[in-house]
Amino acid sequence: MTLGFYSELEKQLRFNRELAKIVVEKIKGLFTEYTVKTGIERLKIMDFCGTHEWSITYYGLRSLVPSGMELVAGPGCPVCVVPSHYIEESIKLALDGVVVYAYGDVYKLRARRSVRGAYSLSEARSLGGDVRIVQDILSATRDAAGHGKPSVFIGVGFETAAPAYAWSILRKHLPVNLKLLILVKLTPPAMFYSLEVSREKPTEPPINGVIAPGHVSTITGAKAWTPVSENYGLPVVISGFEPLDVLVSILEIMKQLVEGKAETVIEYKRSVSWHGDLRAQNAINKVFEVVDDAWRGIGFLPKSGLRLREEYRLYDAFYEYGVRELKPVEWEKDMPPGCRCAEVVLGKAYPTQCPLFMKACTPQKPVGPCMVSIEGTCAIWARFGSRDLLLRITNEVKTSKG
Ligand code: SF4
Repeated sequence: MTLGFYSELEKQLRFNRELAKIVVEKIKGLFTEYTVKTGIERLKIMDFCGTHEWSITYYGLRSLVPSGMELVAGPGCPVCVVPSHYIEESIKLALDGVVVYAYGDVYKLRARRSVRGAYSLSEARSLGGDVRIVQDILSATRDAAGHGKPSVFIGVGFETAAPAYAWSILRKHLPVNLKLLILVKLTPPAMFYSLEVSREKPTEPPINGVIAPGHVSTITGAKAWTPVSENYGLPVVISGFEPLDVLVSILEIMKQLVEGKAETVIEYKRSVSWHGDLRAQNAINKVFEVVDDAWRGIGFLPKSGLRLREEYRLYDAFYEYGVRELKPVEWEKDMPPGCRCAEVVLGKAYPTQCPLFMKACTPQKPVGPCMVSIEGTCAIWARFGSRDLLLRITNEVKTSKG
């Protein structure tokens, strides 16, 4: 019964074209009203989650919104922001005989410097390192318990990944030979930083509204984003991931802009509550401490990462293997030459503005980190195109015919 209801709802959200047309017309109407009222003709809305960027690009939502409205992606891909330093440290572990467990996209992520000839865990494996791809920590746990060799699981992710890591410790699931290299990042500090940066360039339209992440908010609750509406004066909508979810969220942002409001609103009510998942939050707080952390291409952001608390050192790969923490003094943006990923993750550049996009850098042979993961903006644009890209290709075809 419940399943039936949800599948019906999903179907409507996905395929209700008539409803989509109505929402799009309303967005256009409000956009015109806002322009007439304020004289502002360009608006920028930032989505913060790789899956939102995927929906926007895959379903071509940019082609539906008014031409003066830009939809830009923020730092919503946890793999894209893992500093090269930690990839290098993981490669070292693999080449020193430790079994390393990594997600598929972390496995392909390229470091800035090679470690004994390897730039990635994938290359470390071809040089003899024992690197195993897993989809979750449970698979690593089972596998490591089976062979008993010294092992490390690379725990990348945002707030959504942290509960599983915490529970694996609290429920004593981890075998003694498996240690965790926890590299979890917290999203609100990165959003606040993106908003600051968007105000630095007076020629650019600043960000006028935010589509906040749905999955992360399931854990943190909508309350995590109230500083965006209260301190930055921007409408925030926590959105689901179907195309209609995103369109309705844009409509809500436009409605608030026209009414001069700045509120945090939940559109993704079927999953997100105001206070979030308290059980998950408790587990996270128990096991992890909040630290200043480095984001690749961005820098050190205060209180933006999680590491295991001292009492859980038994499980900590940093402690067990002397993995070195990156220090603010040695921070460098660590992007490959020519890569504009640092700007892409802050919504300051589109992937198509990078000279390497789909030339030297492709999903098959990624140069920068945004081209690796399916949540990376460059990888999404490469796979599913963009209005900008389509227009350019159309013009090129027209010119070559002419
Ligand atoms: S296309 Fe590749 S090189 Fe360019 S910004 Fe994206 S990831 Fe970096």
